[in-house]
Amino acid sequence: MISIDRPTADLGDVRVTNRAAVLRHVRRHAPCSRADVAAHTGLNKATVSSLVAELIEHGLLRETGLTENRVGRPATMLVLDGSRYVGLGLRVGADELVAVAAGPGGDPVLTWRRAFPAATAGPEETVKALAALVRRAVTRIGADRTVLGLTVAVPGLVDPDGDVPAAPALGWRGVPLAASVRRALRDPGFPVAVDTEANLAVLAERRHGPYAATTDLVHLTGGPAIGAGLISGGRLLRGGRGFAGDVGHLPLAADGPACDCGRRGCLTALLGVDAVIRRLLPDAGPVTDHLPEIERIRALARAGDEPVRTGLTEMGRLLGQAVSVLSGLLDPEVVVVGGHLAALAPWLLPAAHAELAARTPVPPGVRLEASTLGSAAGALGGATAAMATVEAGRLPAG
Ligand SMILES: [Zn+2]
Repeated sequence: MISIDRPTADLGDVRVTNRAAVLRHVRRHAPCSRADVAAHTGLNKATVSSLVAELIEHGLLRETGLTENRVGRPATMLVLDGSRYVGLGLRVGADELVAVAAGPGGDPVLTWRRAFPAATAGPEETVKALAALVRRAVTRIGADRTVLGLTVAVPGLVDPDGDVPAAPALGWRGVPLAASVRRALRDPGFPVAVDTEANLAVLAERRHGPYAATTDLVHLTGGPAIGAGLISGGRLLRGGRGFAGDVGHLPLAADGPACDCGRRGCLTALLGVDAVIRRLLPDAGPVTDHLPEIERIRALARAGDEPVRTGLTEMGRLLGQAVSVLSGLLDPEVVVVGGHLAALAPWLLPAAHAELAARTPVPPGVRLEASTLGSAAGALGGATAAMATVEAGRLPAG
């Protein structure tokens, strides 16, 4: 059967693709002129002018009034317009909720952290707390800006429907999280999605971190579960069921500490935040808020405490070992560690680098660095992901 709608649809698709190309160029090179956009995207000047006019009208680009100092007519410069739309990202940690609202350029409009024991509260209470936080954030963002979407970051496995089949760090199994958050928000007027913390954190790195230009990048999450967000050749690797990067049970030490999965010496059992605190602060007891304990470890390390320094060096070696496995699989340019691994990086990374160097067949090998995005990385990535439809060239409704 021949569809007569087809040619129109194709033209529409071309315009969407071109709009995305213009937005992408301005995001990377702002401030830039219409002529720059045309020169770099290969679109003709008339098309660029028409697309830019439309993007300005819809509040996605604005003119800065700056002019480029060069021969010929001065040009009006373009930048992303961060004043009308935001994406919302929420990160569920074992002991905290982090909310970030950010505009198209990643400029955070708000960043909130709230101590919340998601691991003991259970999914129902967590969804209630999430919904309350979203409602407060939407109120704070105000009527002048429109929320384009919400993406929730979870330390566990997430399937394409936004269900969480397993998040051992939270003690969750089979939680229909996206549907529950949607229901709790009672038709919020924007799409709600769920993704793994690792995927969203690596997205934040790729977009806003110091390695944004890197096309082969891994973010290893700190926190109660260690997961890997994998970008290879500029694309996020999700795997067949969406579970790629679930590296928390990589076996590193056959005689290591017991893991929740029933085996011993897994990456999470050795380097997850609970394992690190248990090992370095034997007096800490059960911990409900990790942040102050990690601060204590940092203070002890800074003061030269011998057992803490030795422990961190051993953990650094294990980290190097884990990263060498990732490196062998994916050959990334940079591996960035987040969460408590970033907070403890000054003491972990020297040993990790030495271990990596010893295991690198062809130097210089992968670079291993600490994330600079802090505990908000997953939430910032969520806010970025929530703007994906617009970034892909679709105009916001209304
Ligand atoms: Zn395990």
